Amino acid sequence: MRIGIPREAWPGESLVAATAKTAEQLTKLGYDVVVESGAGQAADQPDEAYTAAGIRVGDHATVWSSDVIVKVNAPTDEEIGQLRRGSTVVSIMAPGRSPELIEKFTAAGVTALAMDAVPRISRAQSMDVLSSMANVAGYRAVIEAAHEFGRMFTGQVTAAGKTAPARVFVVGAGVAGLAAIGAASSMGAVVRAFDVRPEVAEQVESMGAEFVHVQMEQEVSSDGYAKEMTAEQEAATALMYDEEARNADIVITTALIPGRPAPKLITAETIAAMRGGSVIVDMAAANGGNAAATRTGERVVTDNGVVVLGYTDLAGRLAAQTSQLYGTNIVNLFKLLTPGKDGQVTLDFDDVIQRGITVTLDGESMWPPPPVQVS
Ligand code: NAD
Repeated sequence: MRIGIPREAWPGESLVAATAKTAEQLTKLGYDVVVESGAGQAADQPDEAYTAAGIRVGDHATVWSSDVIVKVNAPTDEEIGQLRRGSTVVSIMAPGRSPELIEKFTAAGVTALAMDAVPRISRAQSMDVLSSMANVAGYRAVIEAAHEFGRMFTGQVTAAGKTAPARVFVVGAGVAGLAAIGAASSMGAVVRAFDVRPEVAEQVESMGAEFVHVQMEQEVSSDGYAKEMTAEQEAATALMYDEEARNADIVITTALIPGRPAPKLITAETIAAMRGGSVIVDMAAANGGNAAATRTGERVVTDNGVVVLGYTDLAGRLAAQTSQLYGTNIVNLFKLLTPGKDGQVTLDFDDVIQRGITVTLDGESMWPPPPVQVS
């Protein structure tokens, strides 16, 4: 089978679904791989890098006539129109939030596999693109914050006097939150963090931060995500958020409940009470944001001088490494889909990972998959 790696159509997208290295790994599974000219340019992967690795660089039409299209973002309407009937498309596609996309895949008669639907089980970690991206994005959130803050993170005692360390408060200690904690701690900041799952306290502490405890119990659903909080729990945490944010120089929010708009945790009143020059990086901006002042994709400065970053492309701002990680997640998936290493995709629906990512099969809707228990 031929795998086509297109140039991403979304304006400003810097990622590519295969680097020269990961494209070569796909060929070792028996696939013929063709990369669209310029596809990797913004990710430090010029056409010559692919050619040097023995990977064919082709034009748009050649790539889109492939048996399997592997992308980063969901295909656009125009791209869906170019898919061959019976072909397979693999990308991030938020199938739970995109019923119209599923209809388009069925009308096009294709098989669609969603990289962002990989179940959260240990065996699937090597294919978990959301974790790969959240990890890079958490790090980058700290870099963006440090740039805006314009002061050192680390405290110093010098002959010319003392400087205090920056105080960072991280909300949500999942993949992105832990990466942000690690980056901020390593730069010398004093980091505090909160998550509705108190069991992550140990991980938070091992990354160098102090866990903020609030008296409450939080249930975790069968798929490993936190459940929504009760009104009582919300009231208990609201006070804590207010106090922590007011005392922080930098607030990084990552709170997420899958399939729902992001919970609003940092209120307008709290932001109004923060010091001018403080920075909020709202990593949940794509889902509406955790902070009242957030505008998706934008940098906002409030009346009292708080900088609020709602960037949704944090992982794309480190495009070379994110593409390498995404490409490796893809290779790991194809190892699973190609048991014979013969360049043929063979879907096995007894496997919860393969069933979990299958959105349509030859034009038939397979969504949603049966629920998976976390391991
Ligand atoms: P995750 O599920 O691993 O972590 C989310 C954490 O938030 C969980 O630990 C959960 O318990 C916690 N949480 C839920 N509700 C909370 C609340 N009310 N208060 C405190 N904690 C709460 O998710 P992740 O992979 O770390 O991603 C985090 C966020 O970052 C997501 O919104 C994701 O979309 C976003 N993200 C943004 C970018 C970007 O460029 N801005 C890139 C990648 C990921």
